[in-house]
Amino acid sequence: MNLTTLTITQTHQGLKDKKFSALELANAYLDKIKQSDKDIFAYLHVTEKLAIEQAKKIDDLIFKNEKLPLLAGIPCAIKDNILIKGEQSTAGSKILENYIAPYDAGVIKKLNKQGSVFLGKTNLDEFAMGSSTENSAFGPTKNPCDLERVPGGSSGGSAAAVAADECAFALGSDTGGSVRLPASFCGVVGLKPSYGAVSRNGLIAFASSLDQIGPITKTVEDAKIVFNAIRGRDEMDSTSVEINPASAKTTAWQSKIQNLRIGVPKEYFVKGINPEVEKTIRSAIKQYEKMGAKIKEISLPHTKYALAVYYIISPSEASANLARFDGIKYGYSESKNQDNLLDVYLQTRGKGFGKEVRRRIMLGIYALSAGYYDAYYLKAQKVRTRIIEDFNKAFQDIDVIMAPVSPTTAFKLGEKVDDPITMYLSDIFTISVNLAGLPALSLPCGKVDNLPVGLQLIGNVFEEEKILDIARELEYRV
Ligand code: GLN
Repeated sequence: MNLTTLTITQTHQGLKDKKFSALELANAYLDKIKQSDKDIFAYLHVTEKLAIEQAKKIDDLIFKNEKLPLLAGIPCAIKDNILIKGEQSTAGSKILENYIAPYDAGVIKKLNKQGSVFLGKTNLDEFAMGSSTENSAFGPTKNPCDLERVPGGSSGGSAAAVAADECAFALGSDTGGSVRLPASFCGVVGLKPSYGAVSRNGLIAFASSLDQIGPITKTVEDAKIVFNAIRGRDEMDSTSVEINPASAKTTAWQSKIQNLRIGVPKEYFVKGINPEVEKTIRSAIKQYEKMGAKIKEISLPHTKYALAVYYIISPSEASANLARFDGIKYGYSESKNQDNLLDVYLQTRGKGFGKEVRRRIMLGIYALSAGYYDAYYLKAQKVRTRIIEDFNKAFQDIDVIMAPVSPTTAFKLGEKVDDPITMYLSDIFTISVNLAGLPALSLPCGKVDNLPVGLQLIGNVFEEEKILDIARELEYRV
């Protein structure tokens, strides 16, 4: 049996039935990583010792015939901006190259409670800033579907690890599309939860009003299982809330799809979208129509400002969040070579941060500076409210929004690295969701030139369960 191709549910069943042990399972994944990750480079760091220790504990439970939580013994990969106590957490940056996490992130505590097995930390764009994983200080990850192409970003390592069967599931983080874009480019499922649904404690902050941790999985059902395991209130994150658990049973959505009202925003099908991608998305939506759903064209008129708003708000928050990396408390430091404090700061940050991170910090500081604050930051916040209102209005008449995740399929490595604006445009269909705090899912819905295309399902706030169930109805058909 090929253990690394199983879904979470199948793996769980296999462990329960004692078809294989947790240790055999962990070793199968560790072997698979050894074999294929030299080409893909999904992992920055493999936590082999930890994985084996955790797997053995689960085997003890199985031996004693104790009840196994759904994620017990399931091998997973964690984006390297999420802290696992005692393990490295670089966030893809040289400035944190030698940083060892002193505590577990909220999501890691929850996965530990279930008994998940951590295989390692995955590659990402430095501090999650990017759309291709090429901004990692340690080199790019490659797309398992085509090694000459990017896996998307910033959670490119996590999506590539899932797509290449180098883990059963992974966690990523999504500030402007970083779970959904790589999921779409690698042909796997990615869920960005509603703001507040999942704790951000122990996630190295990029833009705190937008960041959310989300699962990347092989199937929609798996995404639901992982989301249920990590969601909920955490005392260490005051923005996190308890929401009703998504029910594990398969809901009879097929009958509900009869009355489902799907909104298709016209602003998401504009010039510049690859016509074949558009065709694939439209035919996926058509499938829902065939199942009885009502399709309605809607308008989200402030969509055209979303990219500008995002690139004011997220760098502003990032400039404040990244101020803590000053060569004194964390990681890389130039303190030995300098004789005054200001030079320690300047040299450490100048050498420790990569080009894109420095660009964002400068953008953010500029947008927040006295004299420009009203013109940029304050205005962006006002337009953000308009974007939220667009969604609120739309959800009065529809149940779910469907759109592409990205205007293109995975692009070639190196194709956009020298042109930040073109790179920023990759996120045009994903960032509004973060600005509005909504849940959204990327579902593989077909291929163009052999490269995966992701359909985006956007729900109203805290409607994760609904979009997961709706997605499952199409998943069976593609
Ligand atoms: N690509 C976007 C950016 O560079 C989004 C990144 C993310 O979601 N972390 O900001």
